[in-house]
Amino acid sequence: MQQYLDNYDFAGKKAIVRVDFNVPLNDKFEITDDTRIRRAMPTLKKILEKGGSVIIMSHLGRPKGVDDKFSLRHIVDRVSELLGVSVAFAPDCQKADDAAAALVPGQALLLENLRFYAEEEGKPRGLKEDASDEEKKAAKAAVKASQKEFVKKLASYADCYVNDAFGTAHRAHASTALIAEYFPNDKMFGYLMEGEIKAIDNVLKNAQRPLTAIIGGSKVSSKLAVLKNLVGKVDNLIIGGGMGYTFIKAQGGQIGKSLHEDELIPDALAILAEAKEKGVNVSLSVKTIGGQAFENDTPQRIFDTHAIDPEWEGMDAAPESIENWKKIILASKTILWNGPVGVFELPNFAKGTLAIAEALAEATEKGAYTLVGGGDSVAAVTQMGYADKVSYVSTGGGAMLEAIEGKVLPGIAAIQD
Ligand code: AMP
Repeated sequence: MQQYLDNYDFAGKKAIVRVDFNVPLNDKFEITDDTRIRRAMPTLKKILEKGGSVIIMSHLGRPKGVDDKFSLRHIVDRVSELLGVSVAFAPDCQKADDAAAALVPGQALLLENLRFYAEEEGKPRGLKEDASDEEKKAAKAAVKASQKEFVKKLASYADCYVNDAFGTAHRAHASTALIAEYFPNDKMFGYLMEGEIKAIDNVLKNAQRPLTAIIGGSKVSSKLAVLKNLVGKVDNLIIGGGMGYTFIKAQGGQIGKSLHEDELIPDALAILAEAKEKGVNVSLSVKTIGGQAFENDTPQRIFDTHAIDPEWEGMDAAPESIENWKKIILASKTILWNGPVGVFELPNFAKGTLAIAEALAEATEKGAYTLVGGGDSVAAVTQMGYADKVSYVSTGGGAMLEAIEGKVLPGIAAIQD
């Protein structure tokens, strides 16, 4: 049975907490952005305040085995600083029995990178490139078999399990999903996970209408499942950014050298047809800011999005498109935004994306619920200084994307089951 952090009695208990401390490090192993560590602090602090102790576990990067470059010892001082207690470090997550047993209420222990073991992800390592299917199958079976022991060991350190790692919730890994079965009555989400789940539900389950999704970014192929799921749920679907040109081409438009995927034209047409059948208003860009080359200082020209000169490519939404989209946004009660509507990394082509961020902030101020999630739109909204002017900014790129594709995330299901 699922428990809740606020009600659970942590007094004298040891909590094993899966967090996402996969922070960027520079070549001196200094943390360049500690947002992920900060976002887990409310959960960790709450457990300590309530008289528990915490065993913190995470992955860092994509090590292929034990590799100091990916050691969590590089971040232990920062975790101590932010948590306000001196955090002990266990240099092997499978040999932390004594360190875990020694914890008293109010203390914290950080386990070394879980991915130093192949068992965390349950994928075999070191397979020869020419391995036969038989060999691959045997290696997979071996790692799956030892995964049980790996999970059991982690579970043995604690009395309860808390998952606060939304960034890896879409993976059925040992520490994000499998471990939960050892705590049938003592498993719960951390505050960050609770917040992310509520944000998703606010959009996909309990949305106030009109509900609008703004989907941008580079390719239709990477957002096809998102579009297919949303077209059955939203009132308005704004499609912008590089992926918009495949839709424009599908409608017979001339898109010049703009990014597009010919092989996805049938899918684009199917989405437009489904939208029509369901009465969903699809809004594509009507005017585009074109560039002659994919560079910041390239000359700019405004085109009808359906009639871009053959030598030019669409790189941002022009003011007329933005005006249309702004009207839709400001008339909505719930708005989901995923993906920039232009090449926002180039400052001269960032105006459209900035205007969307501004419109979302205005809608939020007027009482709409606004969720920004999934990869680059989060970077855009943060970089542009609008992160605290929208209702919620998701911390999980891939996880949020899979959630809005309508998939059940294993890390969430393991707690709710
Ligand atoms: P995604 O990761 O799919 O959300 O895509 C984000 C990327 O889409 C960013 O790097 C943007 O530069 C890119 N993008 C947005 N609009 C365009 C465009 N018109 N042409 C090329 N790339 C674009």
